[in-house]
Amino acid sequence: VVELKNIHKTFGTNHVLRGVSFEVHRGQVAAIIGQSGSGKSTALRCMDRLETIDSGELNVCGHALHDPKVDLKPLRRDVGIVFQSYNLFPHLTVEQNVTLAPRAVKGMKASEAQEIAAAVLAKVGLKEKMGAYPEQLSGGQQQRVAIARSLAMEPKLMLFDEVTSALDPQLTGEVLRVMEQLAADGMTMVLVTHEMAFARNVAHQVIYMRDGKVHESGTADILRQPSTRELADFISADA
Ligand code: ATP
Ligand code: MG
Repeated sequence: VVELKNIHKTFGTNHVLRGVSFEVHRGQVAAIIGQSGSGKSTALRCMDRLETIDSGELNVCGHALHDPKVDLKPLRRDVGIVFQSYNLFPHLTVEQNVTLAPRAVKGMKASEAQEIAAAVLAKVGLKEKMGAYPEQLSGGQQQRVAIARSLAMEPKLMLFDEVTSALDPQLTGEVLRVMEQLAADGMTMVLVTHEMAFARNVAHQVIYMRDGKVHESGTADILRQPSTRELADFISADA
C-alpha cells in the first residue's frame, strides 16, 4: 500500500530526508519513532502529499506521488491523516464535523453521511456525543472525533502524527484503544509515536529514524532487542 524508495527532501539548506526507504503492506501497522527533528513528520506528510519530495519514488495506495502531475483528489480520498492538534470546527456539532467531508468531497446525501457518521462515532465510542460541540468534549474525546472524521471518508490508509502527545496520560489511553481497535479491524496505518508500549504491542513494523534516515527497522522485536547502539540508547532514554 505504501512504498518509499530513496526519498530525499530539503527545506532550504536543511536536508531533512536523506534517502528514506520502507514499505508498509495492506493491513499492517507501521510505527515511526526517533528523536525530535529526525524527519518523522516530514516523511508522514510526504505520504499525503502535504509536502513534495525532491527525489526518490513514493507510491501510496496506487498513486505515484513522485509524479508532479499526480491527481490529488483520489489520493485525499484514500488517505486519512490525523495530527496532534485535532482542528475540529468549533461552530459545528460532532455530527456536522464528521459529515462535512463525505458530503463536500464525495457528494454524499445527508442521510447516507449521517449513517456513516453514526457508525464511525460508535466505533470511537462517542455515538452519544453526536449533537455536542467540540468545546463540550475532553481533549481525548475531541481527538476521537478527529479520527472518526477521517474514518468517515472510508480511507484505505490512515496516517497519525503523535495524536496523543497533547493529551493527559488518562486520555491518551482511550485514544490508543481506538487505534488498537482500528488495527485489529485490519486498517493499514502508519503512525509517528512516542508511545513505545503501543508500538511494541500493536505495530507489525517499527521504523527508527535518525538524521533523516531509517537507522534501524524490523518487527516490534527491535524494541526488545535493538541491534544498533543508537536505538538502544533511544529506548532507554524513554524508559
Ligand atoms: P518531532 O519529534 O519534534 O515532531 P520530527 O522527527 O517530526 O520531530 P520534522 O518535523 O519532520 O521532525 O522536522 C525535521 C526537520 O525539518 C527539522 O529540522 C525541521 O525544522 C524541518 N522542517 C520541518 N518542516 C519544515 C517546513 N515546513 N519548513 C522548513 N523546515 C521544516
Ligand atoms: Mg513531528
